[in-house]
Amino acid sequence: MNLIFEKSVPGRRGLKLPVADVPRAAALPENLVRTEPAQLPEVSELDLVRHFTGLSRRNFSVDGNFYPLGSCTMKYNAKVTENAAALFADVHPMTPLLPEGETSAQGALCLILGLSRLLAEITGMDEVSCQPLAGAHGEMTGIMLIAAYHRAKRNKKKYVIVPDSSHGTNPASAAMVGYEIITIPSAPYGDMDLDAFRAAMNGEVAAVMLTCPNTLGLFNPHIREICDIAHEHDALMYYDGANLNAILGKVRPGDVGFDVIHVNLHKTFGTPHGGGGPGSGPVGVKRELIPFLPGPRIIKHADGRCGLEKGTSESIGRVANFYGNFGVMARAYAYIILLGREGLIEVSEQAVLNANYMLARLREHFDLPFDRTCMHECVFSASRQLKHGVHAIDIAKYLIDRGYHPPTVYFPLNVKEAIMIEPTETESKETMDAFIEAMIEAANLAEKEPERLHEAPRTMPVGRLDETKAAREQNVCFG
Ligand SMILES: *Cc1c(COP(=O)(O)O)cnc(C)c1O
Repeated sequence: MNLIFEKSVPGRRGLKLPVADVPRAAALPENLVRTEPAQLPEVSELDLVRHFTGLSRRNFSVDGNFYPLGSCTMKYNAKVTENAAALFADVHPMTPLLPEGETSAQGALCLILGLSRLLAEITGMDEVSCQPLAGAHGEMTGIMLIAAYHRAKRNKKKYVIVPDSSHGTNPASAAMVGYEIITIPSAPYGDMDLDAFRAAMNGEVAAVMLTCPNTLGLFNPHIREICDIAHEHDALMYYDGANLNAILGKVRPGDVGFDVIHVNLHKTFGTPHGGGGPGSGPVGVKRELIPFLPGPRIIKHADGRCGLEKGTSESIGRVANFYGNFGVMARAYAYIILLGREGLIEVSEQAVLNANYMLARLREHFDLPFDRTCMHECVFSASRQLKHGVHAIDIAKYLIDRGYHPPTVYFPLNVKEAIMIEPTETESKETMDAFIEAMIEAANLAEKEPERLHEAPRTMPVGRLDETKAAREQNVCFG
């Protein structure tokens, strides 16, 4: 249906080349020369432009539509940060190292160092490495640092504690470093159950991984106490700062007692992401963990120039090629510098205000499993709609027909029929109101015409896919 070959008409051309009037420069070996012309679509330039423009419009993007995908922070990324990254387009990762270990890529190195210092300031940590290539990679790096710390202290540690609302990458990262996972259930108010945590805590726990606000969008008022309990057992506190946009300029995890943090530049700090595109998950640590940071480390000499220093012998070594995903860092650096301190505070205030607006306007129509003021996202449940046979997935598919990317559904795992909405700070009240109307319409249809929701999406080139199969066996050619 959409294959360019189907538009092909014999003899039609987009370009006419003059007949060659010079001899062939280098004849190919006889066995490589075609005997028949290649089977290419024969189309005009306009056919071709329409074909590819049409395909590009099928790509859902923040630049085109509202994208309230909870936990993913699909905010609008200002184009000026793209310009910042483009300034470095000519710096090749192989730019030569000079004999003393200094490099001629001064601007790029100083930017990475500058960014790591800004992130240390924002998170309340003593030093930051920008090497990790994504959030999950930052988590694994952070847990490797924690393991190196315990090894150096000859601590015998076996477990990592995570709450049941944690992002799946948390237990996965800890397990990859070799720890066994202890999962703590959530209390009825949505935070990790403190009594269960106290009972599970023991001298063999290496670290406690917390997301705060957690994936229910709730801020845990007991983090200080949790940090104290962990530290009594010489366990380190890990902060999953993928969604730091809820607390920028408000709380510094380092001040509350966290020892290690990763942040997602591609969520919080204004760089585009999705579709497996490049990310960056810098890791920050407190002083005791600095010797273990990945090497080589970027340093500033007394004369103001930047250089590279091999990590110490205790360093966990490199975790990425070269310096990490530099383009993402350049965007994040520009984002932070352009907004400044006051701007970043405004970002988190607006993100939290927008999520609470969603919560306030939709709470009548959907069940709210944890009825508290939220941070940057809010989590509803479609359990009321389920009584009419409508699942969260049916509502999600209906929203596609209305031109929205669905919110995150079925996550966090501790909420039945979860619908997790993160409007982000960049959306206007008008956009949110239109989305809220679509959500209310879905709730009404669930009661009156549930089949309409079961049939959705009806406006898309494909209907309901086997999502697991679609992710594992991609067939991007079929129209
Ligand atoms: C997105 C996210 C991660 C993982 O980040 P990636 O860059 O996708 O690896 C980890 N924790 C939380 C809470 C997240 O939202």
